Amino acid sequence: MPKFEYAPAPESRSIVSLRESYGLFINGEFGPGVDGRAFKTISPATEEVLAEVTEAGPADVDRAVSAARKAYEHTWSAMPGRERAKYLFRIARIIQERARELAVLESLDNGKPIRESRDVDIPLVAAHFFYHAGWADKLEYAGYGPAPRPLGVAGQVIPWNFPLLMLAWKIAPALACGNTVVLKPAETTPLTALAFAEICQQADLPPGVVNIVTGAGETGRTLVEHPGIDKVAFTGSTEVGKQIARACAPTRKKVTLELGGKAANVVFEDAPVDQAVEGIVNGIFFNQGHVCCAGSRLLVQESVYSDVLASLRRRLATLRLGDPLDKNTDVGAINSAAQLAKIRELSEVGEAEGAQRWSPPCELPVKGFWFPPTIFTGVSQAHRIAREEIFGPVLSVLTFRTPAEAVEKANNTPYGLSAGVWTEKGSLILWMASRLRAGVVWANTFNKFDPTSPFGGYKESGYGREGGRHGLEAYLDV
Ligand code: NDP
Repeated sequence: MPKFEYAPAPESRSIVSLRESYGLFINGEFGPGVDGRAFKTISPATEEVLAEVTEAGPADVDRAVSAARKAYEHTWSAMPGRERAKYLFRIARIIQERARELAVLESLDNGKPIRESRDVDIPLVAAHFFYHAGWADKLEYAGYGPAPRPLGVAGQVIPWNFPLLMLAWKIAPALACGNTVVLKPAETTPLTALAFAEICQQADLPPGVVNIVTGAGETGRTLVEHPGIDKVAFTGSTEVGKQIARACAPTRKKVTLELGGKAANVVFEDAPVDQAVEGIVNGIFFNQGHVCCAGSRLLVQESVYSDVLASLRRRLATLRLGDPLDKNTDVGAINSAAQLAKIRELSEVGEAEGAQRWSPPCELPVKGFWFPPTIFTGVSQAHRIAREEIFGPVLSVLTFRTPAEAVEKANNTPYGLSAGVWTEKGSLILWMASRLRAGVVWANTFNKFDPTSPFGGYKESGYGREGGRHGLEAYLDV
């Protein structure tokens, strides 16, 4: 029994003023779609309809691409970097000023705990704009030649797990390098992208530099296949990433893909257990496990397996699941009914294949989409739950005896986005890091992000880097 209960501490949603319906943001203005189609976006925690959003069809995507082209040719690419920087700094400052509103809106539409949207997502969004604002007038020092040129119009498609942060990862470097953009947010989380469109108006960004077209997968496909774009940037599933790669292969479009992951979080016997347990929890239960670089495979050295597992179970029993707007909440709602069905299905497969499933006692709200923090033990490398991205709060636990075995198992995946290593030996960290086939290797920490650090994958996790000096290359004609 807990010694005390937490009183509810809900963040007020009155700071957000939702419109009943939203148009498309094309050429600096909100307006209706050509064919008048719309869809609803809901709160995954309550299933309440939040707003109606326009579904962009081919004619709308075409209008958006034309607006972006015009802005590219007549305004943005010709503007000196120091002038572009002013707009990016202005956007960054407005994001900071509106941070609380954006955090509440993100938690409402996505279901993530306010603690995370307030302390992680939105500060990082502002940081990405500040960081890239700094690059806009210094591109000749980025290592891509004396006067690197932009690519043109970027078509960008983003997922629902970090809606505004993924927008920032895409739009900030594109604009800093002198490109204009047409961005499609995910169908289930369009609201912060539309709030960002308002921020562009507030910052007096020239019309057409940023265009936001809402819609579902079909709108995304129309955008990436549009002949008028020069660059495609996509974050999402490996399956759709492959379709995009195929569609762009016969074209001259430059493509970056940030796809799935099945990261190993490797705990050695000399790691401080309590610290490692916090890292394991952060690795897989942060953002309900809807994280491409989540530490979804825990590899524990056999000698400390029972200690680590006992501590992990104790810690999981203290996680609070519920209202995303409650400041005490650790685990929020699953983003959609479809994602919940996928998590349930793969968890059932895990049991059917012989792994043991465990969750702490945890009451799930009646309305909305919820899944308890879950651990599978007795997992073998062949199990689907050890191979496929579940994209939910589900951890598969495996063991190893030697560092070589840990490397072998960690790399035994079609993905290669991230990995974690927990040990007090610096030499072992370096030994592991040089052998792990992953774009990011965290040592004695996990899920740490910074705009100065390049992020991206190997193998089926995609190609190209976002963030840092390396990320600029994706938006320059080099
Ligand atoms: P998708 O890859 O389908 O969605 C990502 C984005 O691409 C969304 O904006 C989506 O639109 C859009 N899209 C869908 N189909 C196409 C297409 N043919 N051409 C261009 N754009 C398209 O991911 P899901 O949301 O369906 O999630 C499925 C699985 O993908 C998850 O369970 C998870 O395993 C993985 N995933 C990985 C992510 C990562 O960061 N690596 C992020 C999200 C998901 P819309 O949302 O409107 O369908």
